[in-house]
Amino acid sequence: LTEAALAQTESVEEEVQAFITVTKEEALTRAEELDNADSKEGALFGIPAGIKDNIVTKDITTTCASKMLENFVPVYDATVVTKLNEAGAVSLGKLNLDEFAMGSTTETSAMKQTRNPWNTAKVPGGSSGGSAAAVAANEVAFALGTDTGGSVRQPAAFCGIVGMKPTYGRVSRLGLVAFASSFDQIGPMTKTVADNALVLQTIAGEDRYDTTSATEEVPNYVAQLEGNLKGLKIAMPKEFFGEGLDPQVKEKVEEAIKQLEALGATVDEVSIPHVVYGAEMYAVIAYAEASSNLARYDGIHFGYRSPNAKNLDEVYTMSRAEAFGPEVKKRILFGTYALSAEHHDPLFVQAQKVRARMTEDVQNVLNEYDIIVGPSAASVAYDFKAQADPARSRMDDILATPANLAGIPALSVPCGFVDGLPVGLQLMGKHFDELTLYQVAHAYE
Ligand code: GLN
Repeated sequence: LTEAALAQTESVEEEVQAFITVTKEEALTRAEELDNADSKEGALFGIPAGIKDNIVTKDITTTCASKMLENFVPVYDATVVTKLNEAGAVSLGKLNLDEFAMGSTTETSAMKQTRNPWNTAKVPGGSSGGSAAAVAANEVAFALGTDTGGSVRQPAAFCGIVGMKPTYGRVSRLGLVAFASSFDQIGPMTKTVADNALVLQTIAGEDRYDTTSATEEVPNYVAQLEGNLKGLKIAMPKEFFGEGLDPQVKEKVEEAIKQLEALGATVDEVSIPHVVYGAEMYAVIAYAEASSNLARYDGIHFGYRSPNAKNLDEVYTMSRAEAFGPEVKKRILFGTYALSAEHHDPLFVQAQKVRARMTEDVQNVLNEYDIIVGPSAASVAYDFKAQADPARSRMDDILATPANLAGIPALSVPCGFVDGLPVGLQLMGKHFDELTLYQVAHAYE
């Protein structure tokens, strides 16, 4: 299996460019060890996998697709990586992303441009674009992505695969290079819902090394996939179907929702007013957290140090100036501004208040309904270097960020094609109720 996956990777990588690092030798050695193991048990025994390159891997370069960490070799494995290893998975290497997971197309990567396997003239989405493309191009059976503001779900939608952003705290963040710590979650990206459930139950659970990881028991999702949709109550927020949503994507998503009705669910239109501020809340809070998290790249502790620096100040300023890309710099600047004494209250505190309001709105809806549905993204995959369409990007954030702001689980499942490119249906659920999302998506798929 490992050999086959490596052969497939070799044959498509030139076009797809999903990997930053292919660990061929390590993968083959590991597969051989597994072949010779006494026990052939493990939920993912021998299964080829890929890991987004902002998740640390012992002795294997972890770059975050940034010049800053180009040569950074971690000394430990992220908890999710340890869990995959214990379950018998075989990693083929590290997957491309937007620099420090900041972006929606994987184009801010300092390493390479990943292409959408369905149409290589199109972006794979992002920031987990390498993860999505590697799964879609059959290079790996599953990949880990990370989702701070849609980065698992949107690339999953663009590449026609299944992507889960778990409940905040469901999966340990130990070893995930922090972007916005109150939003970041690692999630599985797979071909099918059943595969996704299997990977999540493998990586989820309490971790004493991550104090935000939850103590809730991890259910056996796979054993309970065959749910019945009779009596399932679905909320369809009208804000998710507003301006900026591509009309053909809208049509596909509405068809999918009709199908959920045909399977026995009832669907009501609802309103979640505060989600329309998703873009603003996200920009303020995520960039503020990022500016603080990225302060650790000082040219001393980790990664790049400018060879041109002549004194301590220059070690800081030149290392950061030379190694961070423009998107990362923009966010550090804006986040620092939002946290400065003068702007802290009107920007950061205000955004947190709206976040609390929106979370309350979402909770209220989820007290009455089992799940919330909408599109995963406002459009299908677009061209490289596409002029940003403001209405579309705003809608993208309205669709993506509520799950991160409220900490609830959200799943993207393929629901058809527009112009030969995949469309994603998004399902959001109650805290720690990934199971219902899997059951609904499994019944639908
Ligand atoms: N588009 C979002 C951003 O650029 C996605 C980030 C993410 O989820 N990592 O911030």
